[in-house]
Amino acid sequence: GKGCPLLDGAWQNLGRRRWSHTERIGIMGGTFDPIHYGHLVAAEEARHRFGLACVMFVPCGQPPHKKPYAVTPAEHRYAMTLLATASNPHFVVSRLEIDRPGPSYSVDTVRLLRQQFPDAELFLITGADAVLEILTWKDSDELIGLCRFIAVTRPGYDLQQLERLPAHYLERIMPLAIPGVDISSTLIRERVRRGEPIRYLTPDAVCDYIAKHGLYRSEVTG
Ligand code: NAP
Repeated sequence: GKGCPLLDGAWQNLGRRRWSHTERIGIMGGTFDPIHYGHLVAAEEARHRFGLACVMFVPCGQPPHKKPYAVTPAEHRYAMTLLATASNPHFVVSRLEIDRPGPSYSVDTVRLLRQQFPDAELFLITGADAVLEILTWKDSDELIGLCRFIAVTRPGYDLQQLERLPAHYLERIMPLAIPGVDISSTLIRERVRRGEPIRYLTPDAVCDYIAKHGLYRSEVTG
């Protein structure tokens, strides 16, 4: 099929393209420390299920809810995200959040994409556990109006947890169960620290990058 419309121009030219109101863009937000097959399966499944034209991976710069020293430097997380997504014509990676100083608030990102793509329907894809905390996010009422959410769950997740959110949030949140993939970034970091293999949990290029740069060997990033 059609490739990713976001690839039509360089990043700085993105705003020139006019979108029909039926076009849908997925915004895959996360710390990606590191990216793994769970994220990749989720993005592809979301694209298929919700008819997204493409999925833009947006690694956070400074996650608002985490201590800066507890997160791997953004350039490493960006590089791994690029390596993992390179072969999928519908996936692109954005430096938007890692190039913006200060905490990475989703509302700032979505506001900008809404301006650049005024006619597109935006879907912010992220973990269901992150979505549960949405009421604590910056300008959450505005955010839920700007985009819909796709809340990704691992096997065994109790979806009823989401029902504690107010109705006008819930109607904008679509749950997405990822069949059979129970991989987390925490698991990968712990396995590296213990000297256990991570091959087949994340693409080979990411495994090689982690080994090459000696990431996740110490407690600090865990
Ligand atoms: P997190 O708290 O590290 O993750 C919570 C859970 O969601 C974890 O199980 C995580 O698994 C999973 N997850 C995270 N991103 C995912 C994705 N794209 N697809 C599938 N599962 C995902 O959350 P985070 O990664 O730091 O943040 C998630 C998103 O929420 C980011 O875009 C962040 O900017 C946004 N956020 C915004 C605010 C705000 O605007 N104030 C506050 C908090 C979070 P893994 O560890 O395996 O990824």
